[in-house]
Amino acid sequence: MAQRHEGAPREGPGDRPSGDELVLRDEQRLLYLLALTCLPLWLVDSLSVGRPTWDTLALRLGWAGLTGAMGWALRWLEPSRRRGVRMVAGMVVPNIFLGLVVYRLGGTGNPLFHWFFMMPLMTLSVSRGELWQGALSTLLPMGVAGTLMGLEGMALVPMASRLLLLLGAGAVGMQMSVFYRRMRRAQARAEGDQRAVQEALEESNARALQAERLAQVGRLAAGVAHEVKNPLAYVQANLRFLLEEWRQPASGANDTEYTEALQETMQGVERIHQIVKDLTALSRAEETVEGVGRCELVPVVDASVRLASVRLKSLVRLAVEVPPEAVAKAEPRRLGQVLLNLLLNAADAIEDARVQDGRVAVRAEVVGERVRVMVEDNGPGIAAENLPRLFTTFFTTKEPGKGTGLGLALSRQYVESFGGTLRAENRPEGGARFIVELPVA
Ligand code: ADP
Repeated sequence: MAQRHEGAPREGPGDRPSGDELVLRDEQRLLYLLALTCLPLWLVDSLSVGRPTWDTLALRLGWAGLTGAMGWALRWLEPSRRRGVRMVAGMVVPNIFLGLVVYRLGGTGNPLFHWFFMMPLMTLSVSRGELWQGALSTLLPMGVAGTLMGLEGMALVPMASRLLLLLGAGAVGMQMSVFYRRMRRAQARAEGDQRAVQEALEESNARALQAERLAQVGRLAAGVAHEVKNPLAYVQANLRFLLEEWRQPASGANDTEYTEALQETMQGVERIHQIVKDLTALSRAEETVEGVGRCELVPVVDASVRLASVRLKSLVRLAVEVPPEAVAKAEPRRLGQVLLNLLLNAADAIEDARVQDGRVAVRAEVVGERVRVMVEDNGPGIAAENLPRLFTTFFTTKEPGKGTGLGLALSRQYVESFGGTLRAENRPEGGARFIVELPVA
């Protein structure tokens, strides 16, 4: 069985790399780069003495190999240990190896000795803005360069001047380190702000959804009152009749009449129950989302039409044509909300334009790899200048209090989240047509 190491790659195939994984890759890349850059500098070694220097080539190979190996080893280490390895590979190893290379090339008289003045700036890349690391990146080359100068017996004054120069380079390095740290903090702050904005956006989106849902319930309210009033009236009348019959059984009504009255009452109660159930489902739609999956259109269209019919019935004639093979990839509740919104919009358009013979049709068909659902009406259609703005949040032509301008924007968002499209056009024969295209399940 394959052994699992602590800190081994945490990423599965196709997974997005985690934040930690990204930092690790960044650190590894840095060490590999350091390993690679020290190799071509062998040319400088050779040029500085005018002949190929095989001993420094061996040193540089060792230097590159060690740094590369440390970079590779990072992935097996905990983040806290990685910092130490990074420092050794980025600060300690280069100073020691540079010291050895310079020593082999003749010591402080070789031009490569001046490379020590670059060391604080170079090792800065691994210090990541930490001040003590910045200080170490100055002290280390000072120590190695000082040792070389000491070994050669250099006089105190030239040695001190060189060390001071190195200190100067280190000070510049540390200054840069501080800037880098500030930049990192600013970056972290900016990322925090961005996250906060994102959360606020999500919250406001959720509020918009809630507002739109409540607006839909509101738009249905008048229709609901009307729809409930009817069955309620005959439930009431039948109950009164049954009560009177129960009090005076001699009135002459027979069993069939009792059964009919009871059945009618039952139907009325069921109708009211259905309306209340649909409305509850609508207002709770977000709590009960099932996720995008195989979605049969017949029951979804049925539920939306049933709910919309409390408003549509008195206004329009409704035609529904949905074949049973229409099965799309969608989330049923959300798709239901989209269709309900399209149906209610059609009713509004017909009502506002006072169309006498109002007609609304819902048709579905399977076209290749797509399922197409069309909601059409014979209302006034959409003004050409409004067509491009229809799906923009808060775009509405309805009077204040009636339209929120959120319905179509949210509907498109929903449909697109299923991998589909939602568009609008005017029918040549008059009226609007909204086309939802969804991937076939
Ligand atoms: P709201 O219904 O709150 O106005 P929507 O986003 O649902 O918000 O609709 C935006 C606008 O699109 C409506 O104000 C209306 O002008 C137009 N519209 C939508 N459906 C139709 C339709 N069937 N016929 C004509 N215009 C429509």
